[in-house]
Amino acid sequence: MEEINLISDTVTRPSKKMLNAMMSAKVGDDVFKNDPTINALEAKVANLFGVEAALFFPSGTMTNQTAIKLHTQPGDQLICDKYAHIYNYEGGGVSFNSGVSCKLVDGHRGMMTASQVEDAINPPDFYHSPLTTLVCIENTTNKGGGACWDFNELEKIKKICVENKLKYHLDGARIWNALIAKKETPKQYGALFDSISVCLSKGLGCPVGSVLLGSEELVHKALRIRKILGGGMRQAGYLAAAGIYALDNHWKRMAEDHLRAKEIGEALKAMATVKKVEPIETNIIIFEVDENQISEAEFLAKLKQRNIHIIAMGQGKLRMVTHMDFTQKMHEYTLLTLASLG
Ligand SMILES: *Cc1c(COP(=O)(O)O)cnc(C)c1O
Repeated sequence: MEEINLISDTVTRPSKKMLNAMMSAKVGDDVFKNDPTINALEAKVANLFGVEAALFFPSGTMTNQTAIKLHTQPGDQLICDKYAHIYNYEGGGVSFNSGVSCKLVDGHRGMMTASQVEDAINPPDFYHSPLTTLVCIENTTNKGGGACWDFNELEKIKKICVENKLKYHLDGARIWNALIAKKETPKQYGALFDSISVCLSKGLGCPVGSVLLGSEELVHKALRIRKILGGGMRQAGYLAAAGIYALDNHWKRMAEDHLRAKEIGEALKAMATVKKVEPIETNIIIFEVDENQISEAEFLAKLKQRNIHIIAMGQGKLRMVTHMDFTQKMHEYTLLTLASLG
């Protein structure tokens, strides 16, 4: 069996067809907004979400950081769950780029309730505490195990944002998975948020790329921030072509990744050495081993010996992520391997 990499859904490699689409892209200088393929991708994603404008970026970190920069002033505070990617995995960019602090909410699987958000808002007239100006949510949640939000709760949070004059940002790195799992539409999300970041380089299988979505005005301002952060690229239409190809060909197949993740979850639950498997809604599987029987490192090593690569999350948790390069053959081998390890 060839190497099976379940470390992340970012490990995918572009297929021949995607590479062909990339190689035949018409390109121009995107810093002058003259790359027809990037312009086409931006229009496609903006239309999909029913928003005015979109901007192509090299990474999801940069789209999130740009949105935070645009919605805040130095000294402000944003509200997010304690598991949020913007807080845990963007190198401290919130403080570095925007001079902003995070009020962490103790949510469930990376998701907060509207009343938790309301409680986290600092009174605007109390000048001793930082001014709350932004709420950031993540769907699906990464550290929360691919959990999907209840859309009603997102609407309740929106209401609180409006009442308190807070901006509302969605880190939708894996929104594609949530839309498939919950049978929701991108337009529902486009109508709710002031800005949305989506990744093309996760479940959609592109080598590079993220898109920031919002109003004409926000995206116009984002152009300058992207330039400041060093994210202005030239003939990057070759990369955008991968995005267009992926949206047309790789999105709807994600249900397969979700089904395989659930089946792996069942196989893990049947193992005596596995203590707990978190609920699986999309393509992320987070589980804990019974430390009395086997350590995390031993469990990882046993799978590695059998050519299956997964990752430790700390605090006794391990993670597997299914993706489009994880084939049915690999899936069957993985299920058999887990069963044989007991
Ligand atoms: C991957 C990811 C991002 C962006 O990551 P990049 O590697 O910078 O593209 C943002 N948010 C979440 C939840 C993610 O999983």
